[in-house]
Parts: sequence; C-alpha cells; structure tokens
Amino acid sequence: MDQNVSQPLVTVRNCRQSYHKEASADLVVLDDVDLTLHEGEIVALLGRSGSGKSTLLRIVSGLLKPTSGDVRWRGEPLRGPAPGVAMVFQSFALFPWLTVQENVELGLEALGVKKDEREERSEEAIDLIGLGGYDTAYPKELSGGMRQRVGLARALVVHPDLLLMDEPFSALDVLTAETLRTDLIDLWMEKKLPLKSILIVTHNIEEAVLMADRILVFSSNPGRVAHELKVPFAHPRNRFDPAFRQMVDDIYGIMTRRAPKPAPAATARTGFATPLHPVSTNLISGLIETLYGAPYHGRADLPALAAALQYEVDDLLPLGETLQLLGFAVLEEGDLILTETGKKFADAETEDRKEIFTEQLRANVPLVNAIRAVIDQRSNHRASAVRFRDELEDNMSPEYADETLRAVISWGRYAEIFEYDEEAQQFGLEEEDEEEEA
Ligand code: ADP
Ligand code: MG
Repeated sequence: MDQNVSQPLVTVRNCRQSYHKEASADLVVLDDVDLTLHEGEIVALLGRSGSGKSTLLRIVSGLLKPTSGDVRWRGEPLRGPAPGVAMVFQSFALFPWLTVQENVELGLEALGVKKDEREERSEEAIDLIGLGGYDTAYPKELSGGMRQRVGLARALVVHPDLLLMDEPFSALDVLTAETLRTDLIDLWMEKKLPLKSILIVTHNIEEAVLMADRILVFSSNPGRVAHELKVPFAHPRNRFDPAFRQMVDDIYGIMTRRAPKPAPAATARTGFATPLHPVSTNLISGLIETLYGAPYHGRADLPALAAALQYEVDDLLPLGETLQLLGFAVLEEGDLILTETGKKFADAETEDRKEIFTEQLRANVPLVNAIRAVIDQRSNHRASAVRFRDELEDNMSPEYADETLRAVISWGRYAEIFEYDEEAQQFGLEEEDEEEEA
C-alpha cells in the first residue's frame, strides 16, 4: 500500500449538504465533511441513522452534487456520476423478471459491452461471488443472502475501482450477513476482486471493526466526521479477541457521548421534525424492565446489554435513543442509564404505566399533540395522514418520514391519544371518546 506515492482515489473537502425547507431555516445534513480514500484500503463510515451517511455516499458516487464543497475523483473535479464507481444497496434492487445472469449483465449493457463479452464477464462475476450454477435462476428463487450476492456481482462485473456499499448486509439475518462479510473480505485479501478500494456505510459497529482498515465515525445533526480510527488487526479477525472487544466498546463510547451543543445552523430541526424509530411499546417496556432489574439496577453497558439480550449491537442503539427521547433513560459514554421517570415506569402497574407513557409522549413528541389538535378541530374528528407525511417530508427523507409516522401511530394508539384507520389512512378518536363528545 504505497498510499503516499499514489494519488488518492477520492477526496471530499469542506462538503456541505442542506435541504431547503419552506417554513424555517434550511436543514443542514452534512457540514464541513472531509474524506479521503486511498487505493488499497477498506474504509467504513459509521454513524447513527439519519446522520447523513447515505447522502455522503451519493455525493462520493457523483449522483448528488453537494450544496457546496469540493469533490475529486483521482484529482479531477467530479461532475456527474463517477466512472469506475459501483454501488451496492441495502435493498438488493434486482429486477424480478430477469434471471441472475441478466441482472448481472445489466451494468455492462449500459456501458455498451458486446453480448459475448457481457456473457463471459457476468459468468466470471457470478462464479467469483459464489453463485455458480444459478445463472438462470430468478430472484424469487433465491434466499436474501444469494440475492445480495447478485447485487455484488452486478457491481463487480463493471470492474470498478471503487465499490460503495450502503448498509449492504443490514437486511440479512445475522448468520447470512456474517458469511457474506467474511467471503467478501477473503476475496479482497486474496486480491480476487477487481477493486482498488471499498467504502462501506454502516450503523453496525462490529461490522466496521470486522471489515475496515479505517473507520470514520460520523456525528449527527449535522453530519460530520467526528473521529477517525485505524483498525490495527490482521484478517481474518476474531470478534472475541479482547482487543477487538475493546475497540467496539471504545467506539460505543464515542457514539453515545453526550453531543456537544449543536452549531446554530443545526438547530433548524424542530421537535416536530425529529425522526423517530418505530419501536413497539412492548419492546420499550421490556427494555425498561430489563434495565431496572438485576444485574443492571438502572445502568447498563451497551455492548454487555446487547450480548445479554442477544441483540445485534446496532439494533440496540435506536432502542436506547428512543428511551432517551421519551425521557426514560439517557445514553452516556457507552452506558444506558434509567431516569427517575424510567424507574417509576418500571415500578408501576399496567394502567399507571400507560399514564406515565402518555405523559412522556405528550411532553417529548410534539407531533403527537399536533395530530390530536387537528383531530379535535375537525367536526368529524378525523385527520388524514397525508398532511403529516407531507410536513415530515419537508424535513426528512421519505423513508424516515414513513418510520416516524409508524412510530407515532403505534405510540399514540397505545397511549389512547388517537386511533388510526390503516385503510383510510386517517387519524381519529376511539369510539368511546366520540360518544362522550357527542
Ligand atoms: P443515514 O444514511 O445516515 O441514515 P441520510 O443521508 O439518509 O442518513 O439522511 C440524513 C438526513 O437528511 C436525514 O435526516 C434525512 O431525513 C435527511 N434527508 C435525506 N434526504 C432528504 C431530502 N431529499 N429532503 C430532506 N431531507 C432529506
Ligand atoms: Mg442510509
């Protein structure tokens, strides 16, 4: 790896991305981001959901022009999609009506490669990625892991210099994901991949430590590279090695450190526009109970808690963030700590719990109050979800808007603040409430 001699593959300097909002200040998603990718390295971009990872990946690929900043590909300013870059997504994005081979060949058709060569190269990529013999299968006949292998083959067939991966394993079950990770690393180490570098975006700390030579830890609101860590372990890496565990723990600490006061530009995100995770109220109660009981007694180390609950570590952070948002716990230096309210909740009976939850919901999630206020204003006590979705989408991507709405619907129902009619996509009141008011 003569990184010092060779020119970087990609440089991003001073990059800023903001989205324009109608009513208030612009939403700043990325601020002052710097990133350099060298030949020969795997870099992981690690951050919580909503921190701007996908946005940065799209900027690196040339699919999105940042609001401001300098993006270079081998020293040349990037205008439009970068040649030599291929992308793998979380959702495999395969065409169901095409066979494995036809799906893989697609990338080459776009490049104008002749039929014979297309066949040859796609067969090569399919074999390489361990799908030999499945050329004529259709996506629906394949498991999730195999479909993602097709996604990988389709990216590799164009012989890109840089492979961009956006949470490529997060839709797979734990074992399948692990097999794919190690297969990919094996191929990389054996120099069988036609690649100079890999940039993988993930919110999974273990995945980053397992795969990357370098980890960039992203902070949120607005997203910026807050930390850079070199991973000193040789491949194949052992998750149970104490040094590996220590690094995972350290990164947990970094990611759950109390955020410094956000820059003024970042305060544009009002309470109304906070993205929410659709965590079920059962899970919320369960986690509070677990934290309250032995051996934690109100305070748990996140990696230890994840191991005890048999959670993938990356699934626990959104849960912790949700408890924090609702005022039941705080995240601090890698620990999840119950608040007094959290303890009171754990001690309470079912009906009292509901009351506490309702109080916390009303105090911390303004969207719930806004929905209820609209329902109350209407003579028919109904309010279409569309208007709230639209308002959310002014402040966040459609995926996050959808998750936020799902969270609010499930929490608001549990708290009996409103009902939701899935079919009509309308908020309303419970039957009894309506009768009372009549
Ligand atoms: P990540 O990949 O880290 O989860 P994203 O890059 O998808 O984060 O999104 C970062 C933030 O930018 C989120 O708050 C998201 O809602 C917001 N965002 C993304 N795309 C848009 C858009 N087109 N309009 C408004 N906000 C957006
Ligand atoms: Mg993303």
